[in-house]
Amino acid sequence: MLKELLLQFILSLLPVFAFQLWHDKEQGRKGMPLFMGIFCSASMILCMLTATNVYGYDVDFRLIPYLLGSLYGGLPTLAVLTFIYIAMRIPMLDSIWEIVSFILFTVGFVPLMLFSIRPFERASALLKEYKGILLMSVLMIYFIITITGYISISEASWSFGLVIVLFLSVSASLTAIWLSIFMIESVKEKKLLYDEVKRVSANYRNEVEKLQQFIDETSFGVIVVDREGLITHSNEMAAMMFSLRLEFKDARQMLGIAFPHIFQSGYGDACVKLLNQALNGKKSSLVPFAAGDKIMLLTTISLRTSITDQNAGAALLAQDITELSHLKDEIGRMERLSLVGQMAASITHEIRNPMAVIRGFVQLIQERSPNNQQEYFRIVIEELDRANMIISDFLSLAQNRALTMEPASLHDIINDLIPLLNADANLRGQTIEVELCEDLPLIMMNNREIKQLFLNLARNGMEAMSDKGLLFITTSYFERKVELRIADQGVGISPEQMKHLFEPFFSTKTQGTGLGLPLCLSIAERHNGRIDVESKEGEGTAFVVTFFLQEEKAS
Ligand code: ADP
Ligand code: MG
Repeated sequence: MLKELLLQFILSLLPVFAFQLWHDKEQGRKGMPLFMGIFCSASMILCMLTATNVYGYDVDFRLIPYLLGSLYGGLPTLAVLTFIYIAMRIPMLDSIWEIVSFILFTVGFVPLMLFSIRPFERASALLKEYKGILLMSVLMIYFIITITGYISISEASWSFGLVIVLFLSVSASLTAIWLSIFMIESVKEKKLLYDEVKRVSANYRNEVEKLQQFIDETSFGVIVVDREGLITHSNEMAAMMFSLRLEFKDARQMLGIAFPHIFQSGYGDACVKLLNQALNGKKSSLVPFAAGDKIMLLTTISLRTSITDQNAGAALLAQDITELSHLKDEIGRMERLSLVGQMAASITHEIRNPMAVIRGFVQLIQERSPNNQQEYFRIVIEELDRANMIISDFLSLAQNRALTMEPASLHDIINDLIPLLNADANLRGQTIEVELCEDLPLIMMNNREIKQLFLNLARNGMEAMSDKGLLFITTSYFERKVELRIADQGVGISPEQMKHLFEPFFSTKTQGTGLGLPLCLSIAERHNGRIDVESKEGEGTAFVVTFFLQEEKAS
């Protein structure tokens, strides 16, 4: 008999064993009602089918799966299990007391379960165990009342064996429900913990990857060392920026090496010193350091653990500020130049007025002077005109006022000026060849300025050539760019001259002002364009002016 009770006990725990296997694989609790419904139903039916007859009374543990299934499976499972319970009990209702106890169960216990399910779902694991035991106790009271009633009706007598069986059943049921809830909850908790650990470790991996990516991609040279001074992170930039020993030029080779061993002496000594200081917890400010022809900005960070605030290592960062300091110098120079330029512009403007007066009077005296002095007056007036032209060029270079722009054709300007240039070329024995493309679109331009640009470039080309040179002027249009190309067969431009070509007052000519090209450049830029120069010494030079139409920008 004990054997049979034991079998019953194990059968009643079947859903819990199954749950353990299932929950490890299944994600979340979506399938829980279905799972509990199936296994608790099966367990309940098995229990009822294998009920043990103890001294004339049927004893089984069907109430364990019933309670467990209802609590964990929710309302649908409660409905199914109640249905099975009723369906299997109805055929056995052979006495009035059986009927009474059956009604007691359906109107007493089923509604109690109905109201217990929700609070049970929300309760903590411990509270669930209490609630489970409490509900099971109610069931056990019901069970004892049923049996007592049955005994009194059938006029049977209480025996010692019966009391033992009842005691065993009650304690086994209470133990079983506690054990079941405890096991289910610990499986769920374990799963939650497992998921949490997985999430945290994925996050951690993510963070480490992000940090490594940042270190790899940043424009700083980075070397991170741990508390012992062994290198834990470094990047390719570090390999380029620090003067490292040859074998450590590959950043991966540095990992795990004690940092004093990787640097070469000199600049490296400063790095070692800074890292040592940081490892001792000393904060460092930015230290500029000249390494060869480069200027580096070094800084160290002392790393500490967030919880215990213990020394966790140090990081050395280097930034190459060579470009930056050159740029700073350049900006300073430009500012000074622009100031000088502004002053010069106002002075030259003032010089113009007395010059106009001088020119007027010289002309007057010229008219009244004898013929043999006319040549001198002509030279004086010519020189005055030249000075005036230099001032005009200079002022248009320095001017900053807004221009009136209108759509115009570059070809019209070229065609207007070609006769003038041809006359010039004829005098020098040179020829000009013009090749204009078809369908050139109109460009937003200031006529006067584009004329000036074209004349300046063409004159430069002619001045660079000896007799019999050919000046080749072409235009083209593609990819929303209009190109004007002025190529000569002159002396060419040396690389050294090329560096200063667009600087104001740079000229290799005795009569030159050195203002033509800077003026051309500022005109091109005002017209959303740029100037490229192709030159070969002894063969010739081509100046290419590119105008970008509409939204496209000059680079
Ligand atoms: P300028 O013509 O008064 O000298 P520019 O600014 O027009 O001033 O030109 C500056 C210098 O650039 C010239 O003195 C010359 O050395 C050089 N240069 C300009 N254009 C050419 C060219 N087509 N071929 C060779 N050198 C040139
Ligand atoms: Mg010139």
